[in-house]
Amino acid sequence: MRRISVFGATGSIGESTFDLLMHQGGLKSFHTVALTAGRNVARLATMARALHAEVAVCADETCLPALRAALAGSGTEAAAGPAALAEAASRPVDWAMSAIVGVAGLQPGLLALQQGATLALANKESLVAAGPLMLATAAAHHARILPVDSEHSAIFQALTGEDIAAVERIILTASGGALRDWPLSRLAQAMLADALAHPNWSMGQRITVDSASMFNKAMEVIETREFFGIEPAQVEVIIHPESLIHAMVGYHDGAVMAHLGATDMRHAIGYALNWPTRQPLPVARLDLAAIGALTFRAPDLARYPALRLAREVMAVRGLAGAAFNAAKEVALDKFIAGAIGFMDMAGLVEATLDKVSTEASLAKAATTLEDVLGMDQLARRLANQAG
Ligand code: NAD
Ligand code: MG
Repeated sequence: MRRISVFGATGSIGESTFDLLMHQGGLKSFHTVALTAGRNVARLATMARALHAEVAVCADETCLPALRAALAGSGTEAAAGPAALAEAASRPVDWAMSAIVGVAGLQPGLLALQQGATLALANKESLVAAGPLMLATAAAHHARILPVDSEHSAIFQALTGEDIAAVERIILTASGGALRDWPLSRLAQAMLADALAHPNWSMGQRITVDSASMFNKAMEVIETREFFGIEPAQVEVIIHPESLIHAMVGYHDGAVMAHLGATDMRHAIGYALNWPTRQPLPVARLDLAAIGALTFRAPDLARYPALRLAREVMAVRGLAGAAFNAAKEVALDKFIAGAIGFMDMAGLVEATLDKVSTEASLAKAATTLEDVLGMDQLARRLANQAG
């Protein structure tokens, strides 16, 4: 029986993963080793009982008594705190889902790779902050990373059976987010509620705001470069309001392979769960006649400075991705708190990258977890001082 773990089981991606595990037979099909959460004890315990998990871990240490009580008599071990999370992520599995949000997801993913696991990677911060470290760790331990971000799953699928050397370009589609039809002059006044009205995907608050600002797409451009090992100039972004094409791969004979599907993360999660086979998935089927038309337009860099910043980050590489991600998180927190405006986020990130470069080398290679987390802390501190 396949041994699996889910890191970040109670989040949006974690819930969809749990749904698919249950859909594919639950504990009859999978031996669940570890399920982890931040602090949602009740939901974690319910999942652990349903899958007979070996261990359930809350990242927050103070949750331990409640988790123990919730798991009493279940046979699942209760644990909490950073050391327990690392121990659980180090237990050998065949497949692990990396679905913790933020840079906190980096270490559990690395630990799973060190055990040779196949890592289904939803946590985009891992590749943005530490792409070379993730790939080197996978290679050193004969482990595999399968992308779960929908665009990267789409690219991965469009590359199946192809030679990466024949790839001319990779085109990421972007919905344009909630504010895509606002006049540029009004964007500075956009409030949180405006940025949250995402046209196509139902996601958490943070990633929805990141969609409106295209910081999410900027992260995905960096992810693409790191994961598929192509040059930054080969990664393009196009606004595709219908969000039905998730990404396209253009080959040097002029062919473009597009991946289409419903806007449901269970497709990408299910693909990674069943790879290298395809299994039936409970996602909506596209009715192309009803959809009628797919439209595209070039992104305006004045509206989306995050896309320009991604290019600068890729040019430096090294620890610049870690600094970029951390500064973006602080800027997002400040926007959500109402402390800065929508268009101030990119300015804060840019100012932070400038400041960081006076204190540390952004170009230093991201070779250890400590380097990456050190840069993350520095960039957070400077971003917080900035605004
Ligand atoms: P989420 O906020 O819904 O869930 C995050 C999970 O991580 C929860 O289980 C939470 O309890 C746990 N967690 C939070 N902070 C933690 C910490 N410090 N330590 C340990 N655990 C912690 O997030 P999500 O939307 O499921 O996204 C997860 C990851 O997948 C993110 O990196 C996101 O960018 C990426 N992603 C999400 C989507 C989507 O549709 N939601 C799509 C593509 C990629
Ligand atoms: Mg995505």
